[in-house]
Amino acid sequence: MKLSNRIGLLKPYPFVEISRIIAEKRATGIDVVTFGIGDPDIPTPEHIVGRLEQASHHLPNHRYPESDSLPEFRRAVAQWYENRFGVKLDPDKEVLPLIGAKEGIGHVAFALLDPGDLALLPDPAYPVYAVGTMFAGAESYTMPLTEKGGWLADLEAIPEDIAQRASLMWLNYPNNPTAAVAEPDYFEQVVRYAKEHDIIVLHDAAYSEVTFDGYQCSSFMQAEGARDIGLEFHSLSKSYNMTGWRVGMAVGNSELVRGLLKIKENLDSGIPQAIQEMAMEALLGPQDCIEHNNAIYKARRDKVVGVLRDIGLEVESPKASLYVWAKVPSGFTSAEFAARLLEDNSIVVTPGSSYGVNGEGYIRLSLTTPDERVETGVQRLASWEIPSPSSAAS
Ligand SMILES: *Cc1c(COP(=O)(O)O)cnc(C)c1O
Repeated sequence: MKLSNRIGLLKPYPFVEISRIIAEKRATGIDVVTFGIGDPDIPTPEHIVGRLEQASHHLPNHRYPESDSLPEFRRAVAQWYENRFGVKLDPDKEVLPLIGAKEGIGHVAFALLDPGDLALLPDPAYPVYAVGTMFAGAESYTMPLTEKGGWLADLEAIPEDIAQRASLMWLNYPNNPTAAVAEPDYFEQVVRYAKEHDIIVLHDAAYSEVTFDGYQCSSFMQAEGARDIGLEFHSLSKSYNMTGWRVGMAVGNSELVRGLLKIKENLDSGIPQAIQEMAMEALLGPQDCIEHNNAIYKARRDKVVGVLRDIGLEVESPKASLYVWAKVPSGFTSAEFAARLLEDNSIVVTPGSSYGVNGEGYIRLSLTTPDERVETGVQRLASWEIPSPSSAAS
């Protein structure tokens, strides 16, 4: 039997590997505290689950959904964008619901890229941008994100011939894994650059609602001219603790929306309609769950950042996202330091290097761990003395 070459080109998806290590440890009776995966531990709000209960009895929901989803759901997305960002979208042309943002992020490559095309990808990054690019047979050019550059892709640093060749660019703010945010003037600069070089911009805004200390994220779609050249990908997963229900959306340029819909029509049959109803409830129902969640994450953030600083790590307190991005002590690689945390404290973190070469030197801690587990992890760290890097080689 021969599988496709693209299967051979895939690296293990980072969390599959982490899940395996956790399972192995737990099987030997070790009490593992995981700050690994970004998957909210807080349940989906009750009013949203209640809507699913009702919707499950509605017989039209027992049949195939439309690929472009219920018109009411597209209208709810447009309404939410207007409420939240003051952006007006045409629900029939500029909104496309997705089976989670990941689905759309992967599939959009097939709508926009041909073999030999070039995509500009940030590094470190959510792995799906690169995987979709590779599946479509296109090449990628790395835009390094660095601490010095505020983890923003430096457009000036892209060589002119690369910019001329590139078809599209991926961006993601608030950023996974670095927790960096982008301000409106950066998005304006991106739109100008993209227009000048005829580049499509795909912005992943999965964390726009997970913010702290009164910080409010802007949308890429607020930038002047953004909808001429781009799409924004969004998700209900992180905003409403709905990772298990698989629902998200892409909004923006109507031609790009149509292209992605063409791919999806041929590959999937849409989002289960009862879940579309849940999503409508989430977007248009009471929004106090967001503040409630963010208060929980903020308390965890403060504990985690506090203890990491106490043990001598350099770490910025994030304004947004579910992550703390900490620099590892000098002498350790990301993977060595993560291994040390696992060996010495039975604490799981993600090595920054699993998000790309520019993530080397950092670790990512997810705040989606229940409060009492965070407390256990923090206590273990507080009484830990970082060993010298030489003993890290073991
Ligand atoms: C979690 C995450 C997603 C995936 O969202 P789903 O809607 O659950 O598929 C997309 N992008 C980033 C950066 C994420 O961290």
